Amino acid sequence: MLSKKYRNLIFTFFIIFSLGICTNSLPSKIFAGEPHAELAKFSPEEALERLLEGHKRFLACEPAIKDFKKAIANTAQIQHPNAVIVTCSDSRVPPEILFDSNIGEIFVIRVAGNIMDPYTIGSVEYAVQHLGTRLIVILGHAKCGAVNSALCKLREGNITYLMNKIEPGIKEIIKDSTMSEGEKLTSAIKKNIKYQISQMLGYSQVIQEKFKSGELKIAGMYYDVGTGNLSMEPLQ
Ligand SMILES: [Zn+2]
Repeated sequence: MLSKKYRNLIFTFFIIFSLGICTNSLPSKIFAGEPHAELAKFSPEEALERLLEGHKRFLACEPAIKDFKKAIANTAQIQHPNAVIVTCSDSRVPPEILFDSNIGEIFVIRVAGNIMDPYTIGSVEYAVQHLGTRLIVILGHAKCGAVNSALCKLREGNITYLMNKIEPGIKEIIKDSTMSEGEKLTSAIKKNIKYQISQMLGYSQVIQEKFKSGELKIAGMYYDVGTGNLSMEPLQ
């Protein structure tokens, strides 16, 4: 029989190992959910910095400890999300996890191929006009099935509607015969990010005006599903 002291020691090691299995250390930050008036004061650059800090925690496997009860209380009456994220429905790209975000922090719109249509753009406008959000992120990702289907000119039921929103932006890449299949897909995914941003700006006067005045920042990002890394994509 192990002595009680020895058993306690083993138990303590087990707890430390369980907590540290991903982080190699205890979670470093306790995030209780901020008073949302504070979130509203962030500049677009600060909002981006905050988002990227969350991604660093995700990559380091050191997510902040989230007090969901407090976050619910803080957001019960009002929300001021730090960023609008328009991204694909792909199961490997969950924005709340990738940016280590709590309740009320990011306003997420997900649709295959992160396409901009009147519903997507209307949702972005709502966040920008009524919730005071000053950062819009269009997040594309590696191995995107929707973009790949558009490259292959898939026509199938209602998926065709999605294809019609992606194909015009990548038509030069579809025709290109110099690139490998893999290069074509990566180029098309990155081109699609820019194309969807141009669609959003083209169809929304409100977003365009706020963007031009500097009141609003727009960021294109590419997420690598194989590594968890994010890279910023030029807007044009
Ligand atoms: Zn996708």
